[in-house]
Formats: sequence, C-alpha cells, structure tokens
Amino acid sequence: GAPATYDVAIIGAGPSGSIAASLLHQQGKRVIVIEKQDFPRFSIGESLLPACMQIIAEANMLEAVNKAGFQFKNGAAFSHKGQSSQFDFTNKFTQGPGTTFQVERASFDKLLADTAQSQGVEIRFGESVEAIDLSQEPKLTIRNRDGQVYSIQAKYLLDASGFGRVLPQLLDLEKPSSLPSRTAVFTHIRDNIDASIADNAHFDRQKILISVHPENKDIWYWLIPLGKNLCSLGVVAEPHLLGDAKQNLQEVLLKMLKQEPSLNKLLANAEITRECASLKGYSANVSTLATDKFALLGNAGEFLDPVFSSGVTIAMQSASMAAKCVVRQLNGEQLDWDTEYAKPLMRGVDTFRTYVEAWYDGRFQDVIFFDKPDEKIKQMICSILAGYAWDEANPFVNDSERRLNMIVELCR
Ligand code: FAD
Repeated sequence: GAPATYDVAIIGAGPSGSIAASLLHQQGKRVIVIEKQDFPRFSIGESLLPACMQIIAEANMLEAVNKAGFQFKNGAAFSHKGQSSQFDFTNKFTQGPGTTFQVERASFDKLLADTAQSQGVEIRFGESVEAIDLSQEPKLTIRNRDGQVYSIQAKYLLDASGFGRVLPQLLDLEKPSSLPSRTAVFTHIRDNIDASIADNAHFDRQKILISVHPENKDIWYWLIPLGKNLCSLGVVAEPHLLGDAKQNLQEVLLKMLKQEPSLNKLLANAEITRECASLKGYSANVSTLATDKFALLGNAGEFLDPVFSSGVTIAMQSASMAAKCVVRQLNGEQLDWDTEYAKPLMRGVDTFRTYVEAWYDGRFQDVIFFDKPDEKIKQMICSILAGYAWDEANPFVNDSERRLNMIVELCR
C-alpha cells in the first residue's frame, strides 16, 4: 500500500532528535522519530553546558531533567603543571541559566526520549533508516527489528543521526573537517576521591576538570563527575601520541594518565568500571546543512571537538533553530534554508571553532591560565564556555578571532 505520511520524519532519538520532535509536536505537527537502537544505550558526551537548559525548557522537559538527580554542574576547571583556573558559569556576561548537569547519556537521552513520547511524539526504536529518496517529498526506507523493510513519507526530513551521519553518507555530503584528526580514549571509573584528596587537589565535583598534559599541550584529559563516586575519564590526542595501536585501550589510558602527575595523584585509588572505548577522527563536516527538503542537526552536521563540551548544546540549538524553520515552511512560507538556518547556526559553531583552534595552538590556554584576568573580559569568555556562543551582544562572539587575539597579546 501507499506509505504512511507525516509532516516531519526525524532520524535518531538522541538529544537533537528528541528535542526537535518535541518542539514540532508542540506546534501541532505530525512527527515520527526512527531510532536504530534500543534505549538506554551508551553515548559519549556527558558534560552539558548551561545554555542547553533554555532549550530543554522550550521543549517542556526542564522539570523532568531537574528531577532526575543528575550531577549538578556550575563551571569548568582547567589545570596544567600545578596551575589551575576556574570558570564559574553563573558569573557570565549573557543572561540565562548558569548551571546545568553532568549526565550518563544512557539515562539522559532515554529521559528526553521518554518525555517526548509522553508529550505525544511517536518514536520507533530498533528501526534503522537505510535509504532516502528525495526526488519528490522525502521518502524513507526503514528496516524494522524483524528485518522487514517498509517506507514512510514526510513533508520534511531532519537527520539527527549523530555519528551515524545518515544523510551525509547517503547523499554524499561529507566534507573533511578543518581540524586535524584526534582520538579519544575513555571509560567510567569509581573515582574513590575522598575528602582529603579532593581538598588537597582543590577538586570540585561540580565542575568538569580539563587537565593539560605537562609536556605536550596538545594532549588533554577530561574528568567529569557523574554522581557519587562515579566519573567519566578520557584522554584526547593525535593518534600517534597514544602509542602502539596493538596495545589495549585500558593500557593506553593508564599509560597516558601516568604522564599527568596531578591527575594521576587525584585518581590514585580509582577503579575502572566500564570497558575502555575509543573514538577516532571524530571531527566531521558537510557541504550542505539544509535545503527545503532536509536539515542536518547536531553531530549529523558538523562536529568540532569535545574540549569545551559544546556538542549537546550545539545539537539542541540546531534542533531549536531547525524546528522554527520547519514550522514556518509547513505553514506555507518560502524559506531560504541557508540564510535562515545554516548561517545563524554556524555563527555559534564558528565561535566555538575559534576557541577550539586557539586551545590547540596554545593561545587560549595562555588566556585561561593568565593569573590576573580582567573581570569583565572573563565574564564574556565565560559566557561562551557556558554555551552562549550565539549571543551577538557579546563582543567575544561577534568578533571572536580578533577579540581573542587582543586578549592573547595582553596575557603573553
Ligand atoms: P546522538 O546523540 O549521537 O544521537 C544519534 C542517534 O541516531 C543515536 O541514538 C543513533 O542510534 C541514531 N541513529 C544512527 N543511525 C541511525 C539510522 N540509520 N537510523 C535510525 N537511527 C540512527 N558533547 C557535550 O555536550 N559534552 C561533552 O562532554 C562531550 N564530550 C564528547 C567527547 C568525545 C570524545 C566526543 C567524540 C564527543 C563529545 N561530545 C560532547 C559530543 C556529543 O557526544 C554529541 O555532540 C552529541 O551526542 C550529539 O547529539 P546528537 O543528537 O546529534 O546525536
């Protein structure tokens, strides 16, 4: 028979897919989400930024997220060779939430998807989008868990498939990232950081800790508290610096940990609780973010780098911006997707890009560890680190490269 029809089909029920689905459903649109896996499922990307709380609120999911008991987060701490620097996200230039959470993504993503479902969104789990036909209205070929193949049709298609990158692959939109290929090796630990160790190291469970390798400033580690005695631990480096590919990942992670003495000391009693995993060359980009038939959300579009924990925030921001455009188009407006969606989204992504590039070439690290920062300037930079990378009123957003370079000069 003829395929079932919807207003919007969404590939993937990660943060970008669930939020987009909820926002569109609220506007009375008929939405369907196709998710390959069964939830809960593991995902990396556990430290959120305060700016995403606004979008969670837009999707009427704030109460559910606040109630879930996730680890409270109010900032970021950086450490290098005994120097340390903290950013308190509540002390920032841009208005808006100043705190957020660090989450096990298995439960967080399930919570968002469940909440969307309870609002009335239809999500099909265990089904995978395998082909797309865009010759007329978008038509999706889907394989269900029994291996049967069927089609659906929608007026608009959102790709929220993350690193699955369904449309970039099927439509040949892949474009190399401007950033060099890096690898992350990560796991979960029972950290066993007792009060005396924490006090000695000035370790604050309410902040992500980013530690820089003492000799090679290109290598860094994350320690993300996820709740009582549980942390996510990872190291990021260009692949050749992680050593022999034949070594198992746990050996690689432990060897890298030993190279950073203060982190190694902080984690002296830690026990690994999850098999170590790695992601290689995760940065990605595309030639086209959106047309009048489809838009790419979150990681399906561009993914930069994990250092400032911007991934979920960008994913949710893209969902919010795209949902508004989809509603306008479905309501009969002619829309230029490049000027209405791609360009405004990229303004914030490009702000993060400025800071990511300056992190790896050392400029931004000099700013972070400068010991006499100007309070006003720190608040403006703090806004960006808190995820408010689209706030054009912030000179460090509006003119990010030049402003940053001015501060780098002052700090050097
Ligand atoms: P995802 O969350 O990846 O969801 C995509 C969904 O699509 C998946 O559930 C998948 O099963 C589904 N799917 C895939 N293919 C198909 C298909 N064919 N059919 C149907 N469904 C499909 N971000 C942060 O905010 N904070 C961090 O601290 C952070 N750390 C990171 C560390 C590393 C090493 C890396 C690589 C990334 C990190 N990120 C972080 C980024 C973050 O993981 C992503 O940006 C975020 O998960 C993107 O969300 P999404 O909704 O776009 O995609």
